[in-house]
Amino acid sequence: MLKTMLLANTNCNLNCSYCFERNIKNHTAIVANDDKVYNFIQNIVNKVGYKNLSLEFTGGEPTLNMKFIENLVCKINSTYTTTLNLRYSMITNGTMLNDEILCFLNENLFSIQISLDGDKRSHDRERTSLAFGKTYDLITNNISNILKNYTNIGLKIRINLSKNNCKYIDLLLSDLEKLGWFEEHRDRIAIYYDFVDVPKHDFLYTTDTIILTEILPIYAKSISMGFKHEFKYINAGKCMIKSKNSITIHSNGDLYKCYSLVGYEDFIKDNIFECFCVDINKYDLLENLCLEDCEVKLLCHGGCAYRQYIAEGEIGINCRKPLLMSMNKLLYLAELHDIGVLSHKDQLEKFLIEEYAHVQINKIRA
Ligand code: SF4
Ligand code: SF4
Repeated sequence: MLKTMLLANTNCNLNCSYCFERNIKNHTAIVANDDKVYNFIQNIVNKVGYKNLSLEFTGGEPTLNMKFIENLVCKINSTYTTTLNLRYSMITNGTMLNDEILCFLNENLFSIQISLDGDKRSHDRERTSLAFGKTYDLITNNISNILKNYTNIGLKIRINLSKNNCKYIDLLLSDLEKLGWFEEHRDRIAIYYDFVDVPKHDFLYTTDTIILTEILPIYAKSISMGFKHEFKYINAGKCMIKSKNSITIHSNGDLYKCYSLVGYEDFIKDNIFECFCVDINKYDLLENLCLEDCEVKLLCHGGCAYRQYIAEGEIGINCRKPLLMSMNKLLYLAELHDIGVLSHKDQLEKFLIEEYAHVQINKIRA
């Protein structure tokens, strides 16, 4: 499969303090060119003979450049619908999802990821927009609209945790429960929690020891309330820098192996606006740097090199083994509960916290 991440544009209608793209935001928004991107994709697909193509749109805020997305999807569909398995997805802040955009996403079977920054008060403090003001109600209403009216759209909700909001996640969970998302639509919506990645000098920087203390009870509560989760906690399992079939295209045509490194000039590989027939297989891949025979290696492969880069200033191993081991023990118990092997319905949260440490892991498969 060819996995392509595309920055539709560099502008955004929000201004989150922890945004990893602060280095590419500028006053003149850069907007992607669908003809040039299409020529590049067509060239690689035909040359390598891929059978599967995944296009993931991001930005900035990608919905601010729907023209690019619609034109590109239309061209790809008309060329490849019968010959390739096509998978479309988008990472969006969820503020702009009106019915016109949702009809398009629904028709093309998009999966979308939308983030919330904790409970309503924390979220609204972090995510205000000049156009909309506070955005918690706007985004949650848009998600409710998707769940009721756009049944082809897959939804993943990412809850961004930070030291500012992690103590108030109970408020968010009660709110989401009241919205009825998970009771009626449990199989369509997956929720996951993660701390925001920021450099060590940033006020929001949180060590893994603190992350573990905070995130375990949050997952235990969320699982016990019946929300649906992935049953594996992964650290860079499908890292693009380590795969020859992955590429990121900046809206200015620059190619990168990792989408988080967009804007860092040292990591630009080529520019497809200068030459569309670039061979992405010529790039050296980052080796699996970790040589340990580790129980969670298949969920990690040495961790996220970008995370190590922003923490220590160089690409390298980013080991989070204690966090990975603990989280996967907890999720294993949750999976057993989900398939009916364990029945602790009334006190599931307490059971998970008390028992997870007793799970023994030999080797986790990816
Ligand atoms: S280095 Fe990290 S952010 Fe970049 S592709 Fe790999 S896992 Fe993703
Ligand atoms: S968790 Fe640490 S030891 Fe295990 S594979 Fe990842 S980097 Fe290596």
